[in-house]
Amino acid sequence: MQEMPKLIAILIAFMSLRKPVDFVVKPLFAGLFMCLFAFGAEFYMHGEFLVEFTDLIIVTMVASLPFSGIIFLVVTYLDRLQERLAMMALTDPLTSLPNRRAFLDWTSRLLARIDASDQGVLMLIDADRFKHVNDNWGHAVGDLCLQRVAERLTTELRAFDVVGRYGGEEFVVFLPGISLEVAHEVGARLCRPIRIEPESPPGRISLTLSIGAALVRRGDPLSDVIVQADTALYRAKANGRARIEIWDGGPLRPSAAA
Ligand code: GH3
Ligand code: MG
Ligand code: MG
Repeated sequence: MQEMPKLIAILIAFMSLRKPVDFVVKPLFAGLFMCLFAFGAEFYMHGEFLVEFTDLIIVTMVASLPFSGIIFLVVTYLDRLQERLAMMALTDPLTSLPNRRAFLDWTSRLLARIDASDQGVLMLIDADRFKHVNDNWGHAVGDLCLQRVAERLTTELRAFDVVGRYGGEEFVVFLPGISLEVAHEVGARLCRPIRIEPESPPGRISLTLSIGAALVRRGDPLSDVIVQADTALYRAKANGRARIEIWDGGPLRPSAAA
């Protein structure tokens, strides 16, 4: 991870070496200077050590300039910052799942790669009567419940299934390479009540999920499939919740189609 910043720092500073004596005196001098500097400073970023102390000294000595150590630090900092921003833009902070944007992005890429004969299933998953959870237990317990839903999805599904938080108390998953029959079995497993025992206020919650599923084939616009899954989800709610319904090709729900 840190190889690129190290190489850049070394390369820039190495260009400053001209005489043979430079190769002995300068590395020692630069290393000593950087040791003093590094002992006096703490190179942390958001609680994580930015660069290893030994790496910093090695870079400085090889490049023979204290300046190269600074370049190493700055380039590493920018590199980490960029990683962190990319992570923040794509991850839901409450559940650590990919957010809607990341989900749609990854799933579209996956769909572009699958064989024409291959298929998958998209599921929209909504927590049942979640407003009651918030009203009766408070928002913090509601948040805890959403984290448990995320755990249920990630533990029950395969490592290569795509799981995301669609927004609010809604989640979305894409299961590549499965039929609607298998999706029905998987969905029934996901719908099993989730038992949550909050500490404050103490008690027991049994949370269920409703699921709407739709088949996805290569080339299907994801937005169309989501409307189909949403129509099925609406039926799952109307039919009593805690169940999976599969879109049967019937008319789409007007509000979902809008
Ligand atoms: P249904 O079974 O029909 O889905 O009923 P519901 O109560 O789950 O549906 P509704 O859309 O009325 O309520 C969803 C609730 O989810 C309302 C909103 O306050 C809550 N919610 C959305 N996002 C969050 C969140 O991040 N944390 C918490 N605690 N609650 C959230
Ligand atoms: Mg909802
Ligand atoms: Mg709900």
